[in-house]
Amino acid sequence: MSSQPSSTPEIAKHQQVVIIGSGPAGYTAAIYAARANLSPVLFAGVQPGGQLTITTDVENYPGFPEGILGPELMDRFCEQAKRFGTQVLMETVQAVDFKKRPFRILSDRRELTADTVIVSTGASARLLGLESESRLMGHGVSACATCDGFFFRGKEVAVVGGGDSALEEANFLTRFATKVTIIHRREGLRASKIMQDRAMRNEKIAFIWNAEVAEVLGTPEGGVTALRLKDTQTGETRDFATQGLFVAIGHKPNTELFQGQLDMNAAGYLQVTPGSTRTNIDGVFACGDVQDHVYRQAITAAGTGCMAAIEAERYLEAQHAESLATTASA
Ligand code: NAP
Repeated sequence: MSSQPSSTPEIAKHQQVVIIGSGPAGYTAAIYAARANLSPVLFAGVQPGGQLTITTDVENYPGFPEGILGPELMDRFCEQAKRFGTQVLMETVQAVDFKKRPFRILSDRRELTADTVIVSTGASARLLGLESESRLMGHGVSACATCDGFFFRGKEVAVVGGGDSALEEANFLTRFATKVTIIHRREGLRASKIMQDRAMRNEKIAFIWNAEVAEVLGTPEGGVTALRLKDTQTGETRDFATQGLFVAIGHKPNTELFQGQLDMNAAGYLQVTPGSTRTNIDGVFACGDVQDHVYRQAITAAGTGCMAAIEAERYLEAQHAESLATTASA
């Protein structure tokens, strides 16, 4: 990777805008904040570039008619953010304190204070945790049908999971695949009735019940060839031939850091004022997948990143005007 973050050891202890997270939302917020002369500092975190760095071709991001590799797209976002003066730190934020002003942000290497914070820590697809799953990720294994379904035109694929996401992914995949097999570890689906009915009615969808994926068979060069399935009732294993595996066992917003400080819904997604990126704390904004469990697309994340930077800028302007008025009246 050419332009992903490099460490920047010396920076001022106090910042106007600190951005936590480096996916499309964080980098877009950085581009807008930097162009507003706010010299933002962006903490890139544990997975610089976010979820797009674990996908291959991105064909639905506007402006790239030939498609672009996920990591390359994120490199370009990063480069653009740096070009206008964003300081990108290859550091992980370990604690924040939004109870006092200025806000405090503690990384593995430094402590900063900030007037505004933009949270763009994203969400992570829950994965099965298999070595073969991570080895073949982007080579036949995917956690996003919207992103990768197109590559399975005319092929047979499997989806693991039994919730709304799995059924939605399976339905979407039938646009491309000749057959989609849903593999679920129990006999009953967790998904809503309407999604179940839709999947049951779809002739291209089949189900394998009471089965866990124990191993994904294949190579990065040749792709996926089969899944080793373990029967959850009998413990028996068998190989099931397929050319792709979509893991759809849920997403987890990366919000542990903000527990007890920012309002979240029951699933842990940050709550923002509808139509904005404002959180329950004035001066703290949230954008991208960390506050969106519905769309979860790079383009929607980038859109809310732009909103967060504009809202942070306006918040700072209002604070500045207020302090001038206070000084004048003193
Ligand atoms: P979810 O409802 O938590 O379902 C996750 C599924 O994955 C469950 O069936 C679960 O099995 C299975 N699973 C979890 N860990 C597994 C593992 N290690 N191995 C195998 N299977 C595993 O997650 P979701 O489907 O992403 O939905 C999350 C929320 O978003 C829900 O509220 C859902 O309604 C909503 N959503 C809505 C829509 C829509 O309305 N269009 C679309 C997507 C999501 P068990 O059932 O055995 O626990």
